[in-house]
Amino acid sequence: MDESEGRPVDRRGFIRDAAVGAAAFAAPGKLMADQTESHDHARDHGHGHDHDHQEVPADVALRVRALESVLVEKGMVDSAALDEIVDTYENRIGPRNGAEVVARAWVDSAYRDRLLADGTAAIGELGYLGGQGEHMKVVENTPEVHNLVVCTLCSCYPWPTLGLPPVWYKSAPFRARAVIEPRAVLSELGLDVPEDVEIRVWDSTAEVRYLVLPERPAGTEDMTEEELAQIVSRDSMIGVARVEPPSEGPAGGGR
Ligand code: FE
Repeated sequence: MDESEGRPVDRRGFIRDAAVGAAAFAAPGKLMADQTESHDHARDHGHGHDHDHQEVPADVALRVRALESVLVEKGMVDSAALDEIVDTYENRIGPRNGAEVVARAWVDSAYRDRLLADGTAAIGELGYLGGQGEHMKVVENTPEVHNLVVCTLCSCYPWPTLGLPPVWYKSAPFRARAVIEPRAVLSELGLDVPEDVEIRVWDSTAEVRYLVLPERPAGTEDMTEEELAQIVSRDSMIGVARVEPPSEGPAGGGR
């Protein structure tokens, strides 16, 4: 065997390559950029090595990436099929279920009351309970209170109503900072909450998962429940965005 050239990539090399892939996979954003900062900060405290310390999301992404690569290479799974599954949970089925819950609450005040009193039972009425969503608490945004959901320990998230958690939700900076400086985090994510609005942060656990009932935007009085469900975004149900009314002409460039 030609050791220098023909040798298949060894484990270390594979992991290194996968780390690069994982880094690219974890799409860069403001919070991801912050993660780099916090990593450098950690290194200032004597961590001279690479990624062996508290870099949970990167490490998990790395391992998932590595596992996926091996399975794809062995022909046991198909990348396109995996992408399809993730896309289904993340962009189609998941958040759409939660959006239906929100829209129902907006048009049916009795349902809204039941939803806030017992989220699990009311969500169960629509059939959206299941793994990672067995015990649900719904918190309502009002002009006085804005709710934000996080999982400071890991990435607990209500799959049956929201699908898979986005990458930033699992990132160390979001998990740490959401409880310390929620207003700043929300602002970085594009949501400025007025100073006179109280921000409540809910820390998800393996037992309880949260869903934010966002405020119904003005100008939607004539919309049907189905139409309303279409405008409810995933991020609004985590509490990092508002629901915007359907675009009236060019979207008001609030990026
Ligand atoms: Fe968790």
